[in-house]
Amino acid sequence: MKICRIDGPVPRMAVLDERGVHRLPDFHWGDPSIVPAGDPMPLDEAKLLAPVTPGKIVAVGRNYAEHAKELGNEVPSEPILFLKPPSSLLAPGGAIEMPAASSRVDFEGELAIVIGRRAKNVDAARWREFVFGFTCANDVTARDLQKKDVQFTRGKSFDTFCPLGPWIETDLDPSDLAIRTRVNGESKQDGRTSQMVFQPAALIAFISSIMTLEPGDVILTGTPSGIGPLADGDTVEVEIDGIGTLRNHARRS
Ligand code: ZN
Repeated sequence: MKICRIDGPVPRMAVLDERGVHRLPDFHWGDPSIVPAGDPMPLDEAKLLAPVTPGKIVAVGRNYAEHAKELGNEVPSEPILFLKPPSSLLAPGGAIEMPAASSRVDFEGELAIVIGRRAKNVDAARWREFVFGFTCANDVTARDLQKKDVQFTRGKSFDTFCPLGPWIETDLDPSDLAIRTRVNGESKQDGRTSQMVFQPAALIAFISSIMTLEPGDVILTGTPSGIGPLADGDTVEVEIDGIGTLRNHARRS
């Protein structure tokens, strides 16, 4: 099932099928019942928003060995975590605003996990019970500021630095999916989720041993090799098998 969030006088969660977008007026995070109401709207008439408004976005650094190497880093022995603020979220189709403070803004295509149930000290074997579904993310990074500051907050946190979507796929095995990033149609990243150093089970067990994960929270699972800079006017696409394509453009203000 594909779950999206659509703009309107009141933003609404909705379910997407071959007939279009069906509003879910009674959708509540943590409540598994999905009850559509009213007539469907054609997908091309719906303005999609980021499919979730998380309380927190937990991101994982260096979770693909080839990407750790391309930035001259060791492969970590435990997941390296950082946070992106919810204010960095960007809708599918929205503009990534490249700040004047940075001369190098990179794309990072990533599989995002959306939490469905409160999770604390989760046993890795039961990880899937706590997951609502999966979507595409772009962990946009001001690489120069990340290096300069040592810690990641500024370089990862500008407004529009977390494109997310286009929707959440709830029925998906994420263990071996192709994940591809294109800039202006040209292939830049072409990895598989099976290449993750720490798989979703290990990530949810590890993160939930530190902080309680709430329904709607998002985990960005790291990026494959091939990251690179964006230029003014570029179109960047993150495509993951079984989910779809998240498309945004970059703008230098
Ligand atoms: Zn990343």
